[in-house]
Amino acid sequence: MIDFRDFSFKYKKSEDFALKEINLSIEKGEFVGIIGNSGAGKSTFTYALNGIIPHHFEGDFYGEVNVNGLDTVESSPSQLALSVGSVFQDIDGQMVSSVVEDEILFGLENFGVPHEDIEKRITDILKMVGIEELRYRNISTLSGGQKQKVAIAAVAALMPDILVLDEPTAELDPQSSLQIYNMLRMLNEKMKITIIVVEQKIMLLSEFSKRLLIINEGSIFLDGKPHEVLKDT
Ligand code: ADP
Ligand code: ADP
Repeated sequence: MIDFRDFSFKYKKSEDFALKEINLSIEKGEFVGIIGNSGAGKSTFTYALNGIIPHHFEGDFYGEVNVNGLDTVESSPSQLALSVGSVFQDIDGQMVSSVVEDEILFGLENFGVPHEDIEKRITDILKMVGIEELRYRNISTLSGGQKQKVAIAAVAALMPDILVLDEPTAELDPQSSLQIYNMLRMLNEKMKITIIVVEQKIMLLSEFSKRLLIINEGSIFLDGKPHEVLKDT
């Protein structure tokens, strides 16, 4: 479902390649964790999946990335967005509404979900991720963990095949972090969404991800089952 073939990318203003000859396949339904040092290329890897590279950042790229049969270079960002939902690090910058239900509504309307289906979609996703009680809340009054849940719910409501998240627990305490991962597990198991998540907290990935990639200096350094990969580090 996701195929990197000899994919390399260098940002326009950078001397070095941020990603170097990546060859990798990810199948439908996987739960993949990504770790690596700061500057290793983790965010760039996620940008290659959702089309931010090459459509937003300029640079030199070689090779190709295919997502659900779409070549990311040939496809438009909105075509890709139907396959790949993204939750960025800066969720405050990502969210556009002041009330929770409007945030979910916005995406559904934007992606042309028929009006008669929208109410049910909102109710279903809030229930599924266990935040029905937040429906009418003002987003600015929510805790960091609650905001993160809303951001994920808003993207999951679009029913993407793949969900890409960049450090979703960066600002969260251990308990909220665990709740976010339980939510991701549920989306993976019940909605069969492929999860790809960049995370600093290795313990969370060793518990929740089924596959772990370590990215180092723009290359896939290790790739395997979490306990095997962590044994080798
Ligand atoms: P992280 O390491 O958590 O991915 P960064 O601080 O590296 O976050 O990057 C945050 C933002 O700054 C991203 O949008 C990234 O593309 C951009 N960025 C990172 N490094 C550079 C750089 N050398 N020049 C310009 N923008 C950069
Ligand atoms: P990570 O997410 O692992 O911290 P990034 O993917 O953000 O790493 O960055 C990989 C490399 O690309 C780093 O050397 C970073 O400085 C560089 N980089 C990231 N974004 C930009 C950008 N917008 N312009 C130039 N260089 C960038």
